[in-house]
Amino acid sequence: MKYYNPLTNTVSTSLQDSTWDCPLWEEPTISENTAFDGPWQKFWDSVSLSAFQTCPRKYEWTVRQGWHLFPQPSTLTFGIDFHKVLEIWHKLLAHGLDKETALLRCTKLAGLLGEQLIANRTERTKETLVRCVVWYLDQFKNDNAVTTTRPDGTPAVEYSFTIPLMEVNGEQMFLSGHIDRIVEFMGEVYICDYKTTKSALNEQFFGNFKPSTQISNYLLAAKIMAGTISAIPRQPKGLIIDGIQLGVNFNRFNRSVIPFSTLEINEHINDLEGWLKLAALCAEAEHWPGNPASCSNYGGCVFKSICSETPAKWERMLESNFTKSTWDPRKSR
Ligand code: SF4
Repeated sequence: MKYYNPLTNTVSTSLQDSTWDCPLWEEPTISENTAFDGPWQKFWDSVSLSAFQTCPRKYEWTVRQGWHLFPQPSTLTFGIDFHKVLEIWHKLLAHGLDKETALLRCTKLAGLLGEQLIANRTERTKETLVRCVVWYLDQFKNDNAVTTTRPDGTPAVEYSFTIPLMEVNGEQMFLSGHIDRIVEFMGEVYICDYKTTKSALNEQFFGNFKPSTQISNYLLAAKIMAGTISAIPRQPKGLIIDGIQLGVNFNRFNRSVIPFSTLEINEHINDLEGWLKLAALCAEAEHWPGNPASCSNYGGCVFKSICSETPAKWERMLESNFTKSTWDPRKSR
């Protein structure tokens, strides 16, 4: 494993500084999953909840059993890398580095992370990652959405939370997650998210984020934490999406502000309770039904070749084509 420390601008082969060292690739990790208590998942995040909403069988295989593609497709890795570089940008600025030096360090990090992108998507390569970071930071160099801070002065980026929800079957449920960035913009508090896409950054693209399980979870958490932590001084007004269009020879950026009302967030709590009760029913029955309506969405489910075979072959096919890695919603990033 290699790490890049953007503060000292050094690469090392072992972890030296857990605050600043950035791992240059993700290894599959198997560990005890503290999100579960026996058959019950008690700590939910948008990944596990969206998997269950999409298809209970997909949820069982990815979240409960931990089967994942390895290495991850570049469609996933590119977005994770971009988020990491932007997190480091805000941390370096808050630490006191000037923008020119911070840009050089972020460009270097993008190049190092980009080495691991598998070369199957021409718009998601090392070169396009570096270009995307440089152009984005050039466009938003003097961003008027200002990142809020924690009490120690560090910026509210990749803000991890765990909050209690309702009880289901006598078990306390929790919501966990990591908010990309919390900002103050024109006198209001917003949560921010970066979204990469090959598509045009039009009304249809921004319409994908309302309704959205992930965004509603973040806003619900921000609403509950508002006023109790320095990073969220007031009730959040809504969401700011930074859309990032990825082309082979270009990038475009567009920012959209999407308001959310208290009524909308309260309805999300009712929906959450309904989904968690359904998951509890499946756990009780030890049965996670497949949802054929989801198999062909978004280019096709990664398990489609398995589900189209007889169940007698499923276990062997999972072991041959996937790698186990524990998904723990509470793990800080
Ligand atoms: S292929 Fe279809 S049934 Fe199978 S896990 Fe995926 S969505 Fe579910």
